Amino acid sequence: MFKALVVEKDEESGKTSAAVQEISESDLPEGEVLVAVEYSTVNYKDGLCIGPGGGLVRNYPHVPGIDFAGTVEASDDDRYKPGDKVVLTGWRVGENRWGGYAQKARVPADFLVPLPEGLDTRQAMAVGTAGFTAMLAVMALEDQGIKDGPVLVTGAAGGVGSVATAILAKLGHEVAAVTGRPEQEDYLKGLGATEIVAREELTEVTKKPLEAERWGGCVDAVAGAMLGRVLKQMRYGGSVAAIGLAGGAAIEGALITPFILRGVNLLGIDSVMQPHDNRLRAWERIAKDLPMDKLEAMVQPATLSDLPALGRDILKGQVKGRVVVDVN
Ligand code: NDP
Repeated sequence: MFKALVVEKDEESGKTSAAVQEISESDLPEGEVLVAVEYSTVNYKDGLCIGPGGGLVRNYPHVPGIDFAGTVEASDDDRYKPGDKVVLTGWRVGENRWGGYAQKARVPADFLVPLPEGLDTRQAMAVGTAGFTAMLAVMALEDQGIKDGPVLVTGAAGGVGSVATAILAKLGHEVAAVTGRPEQEDYLKGLGATEIVAREELTEVTKKPLEAERWGGCVDAVAGAMLGRVLKQMRYGGSVAAIGLAGGAAIEGALITPFILRGVNLLGIDSVMQPHDNRLRAWERIAKDLPMDKLEAMVQPATLSDLPALGRDILKGQVKGRVVVDVN
């Protein structure tokens, strides 16, 4: 028997509740590799899956946790053997199948990535899906070409934003960090931001077709009115990597003008179905380009029993940086 955070649904009221329970290996889903989980994290999607489900969870009882890192305990696949350190993000683990909020997880071998050299399992989960996706965004901006001028990071004090800020600063870019939490200015400057932009500056929907050119690139975790404004402020040929929807699912006030008059690019970033080769590339880049002291500054430690409260907090945008959940 081992511990897991189990979400149950009351069929009559439709309400869900999450609590730490003892489960056994025979409860776990099918898969070639059994992993002794060491750490997991709290992402925005986890907030949904710990709570009402957000349409992501179909079957209850459910073990959430969209990412984890740990040590292989048993494997029916030649690529992995007991003792190997592995990390998992995406593939809808923790959504439509049981995830990382447990001391053990069983998954298809194809879903795993060997831990890159230079990262331990705790650091891998300090990065987690949020940080991994931030790296994918930076890689996409680089492939497209980052223009002169500051690179804007929205939702900067959150998980995606914190990691994007630290990586871009390490790579030598000027980073402008948008936050709705002015009290996080020192934290963001510590990660390498050179300019703090107040959230309110970018949340008013305007009818202007274009605004003054400001940003050489952007990692956007917010969307909504902010993405509509940012597109109009991009420098000629600049690109926005769109990751998230913390501020709304639409792009409010967006017009075609930035695309056709300034050659602006909107790059969609998905971490869930990302091909294996690109996952390896991103984790290697993380080990190389994310300063570990900056990563440590983002970490808030937690245990399985903290998760119901943390799930509510992240949905309200109140989590700072990255939560690392020690499941043991
Ligand atoms: P966090 O909650 O840690 O960060 C989101 C941040 O956005 C908040 O900290 C806050 O930053 C800002 N924010 C929150 N609400 C609003 C609002 N109403 N208006 C403007 N800004 C707001 O979440 P993550 O960083 O983990 O994830 C961010 C987004 O990226 C989520 O939507 C998530 O689902 C998505 N995501 C997508 C992935 C993909 O594969 N495409 C993978 C991972 C995440 P501040 O306080 O600094 O303003």
